[in-house]
Amino acid sequence: MKLIPVVLIFLTLPEVLVERAFFVMGTIIEFKLYCENKESCDKAILDVYSEVKRLDGIFSNYKNDSVLSRVNSYAGKGRISVPDEFIELTRLAIFFSGLTGGAFDITVGRAMEIWSASRETNSMPNTKDMVRAKDCMGFGKIKIYPEEKQIELNSSCVSLDFGGIGKGYALDRAVGILRKHGIKRGIVNFGGNIYAMKPPPGEDGWNVGIRHPRDETQVLTLLRVEDTAVSTSGDYERYFEVNGRRFSHIINPRDGFPVEAVPSVTVIAKDGTGADALSTALTVMRNDRAIQFLDQLKDVGAMIVTEENGRLSIYKNPFFSGLEATETVN
Ligand code: ADP
Ligand code: MG
Repeated sequence: MKLIPVVLIFLTLPEVLVERAFFVMGTIIEFKLYCENKESCDKAILDVYSEVKRLDGIFSNYKNDSVLSRVNSYAGKGRISVPDEFIELTRLAIFFSGLTGGAFDITVGRAMEIWSASRETNSMPNTKDMVRAKDCMGFGKIKIYPEEKQIELNSSCVSLDFGGIGKGYALDRAVGILRKHGIKRGIVNFGGNIYAMKPPPGEDGWNVGIRHPRDETQVLTLLRVEDTAVSTSGDYERYFEVNGRRFSHIINPRDGFPVEAVPSVTVIAKDGTGADALSTALTVMRNDRAIQFLDQLKDVGAMIVTEENGRLSIYKNPFFSGLEATETVN
């Protein structure tokens, strides 16, 4: 007899909002989650923390002992055994290379090194280095042996870099863990890669503001989303200038040069991996190639901000516009 009221109370218990953030993979990961209680949220977040740390140990290009560093230093020497995730993310990266006509390409590693040296010395790289770097690029230089869980980079100068897809991939893992813990409502922001789960109780979506690339106090637009990923690649945090030219940290694999005059690209996609890879790729494609490319994709929203003589132009595809908030809520 006493059981009934107890069960009723349990069912009507409100969810609590828990907000947390921690630093990992060189950036901040922020959580806003609705849980039965604070402890259940914290348990889930702790699990996410260990998983993202583990992935960082695999894909980091700063850690000398990461799997990625081992693979890169084994380039040109034959096959090397790697964990499942390495095979999976390399396959995904190659899939996005194919989809984007080579605009997305994780073999930009060598070019990234050359341009960061040039940033240090504030001088353009020399032509010889650039020609050599071009020969080290191209996703066709990666060979995967899925059965044997091995990978091979076919020339000693090939260097992989997962910076354009790794955070989105880790974000998907994080959301998977949260769901396993029974968390349905929440939003996770991993350094500009956002996943919006179900909205707060009584709401019809999460508000995601996209900042103005040249004025951080301004919001360019507000999205209202749920069960979707939103990723922004911008030239405002990690850009560099050489001889007065402003370069993005995104490389055009066609010529090995960093992209110029694309202040930001935002992509809305089903998962974080896709949103991350495509925001990087569309930066390379710019409007000329990007608009046609987007026409072929269903379920992908994009906003591309380009700059000419200090003036910004904004392109939004219909899917993106359809998810913009019509009114400003909280
Ligand atoms: P972040 O959010 O960390 O700024 P982005 O998603 O904007 O990352 O991608 C930029 C990173 O992707 C670069 O720092 C580099 O590591 C990598 N990268 C650069 N150019 C390309 C490219 N053409 N294809 C794939 N990855 C790239
Ligand atoms: Mg990206």
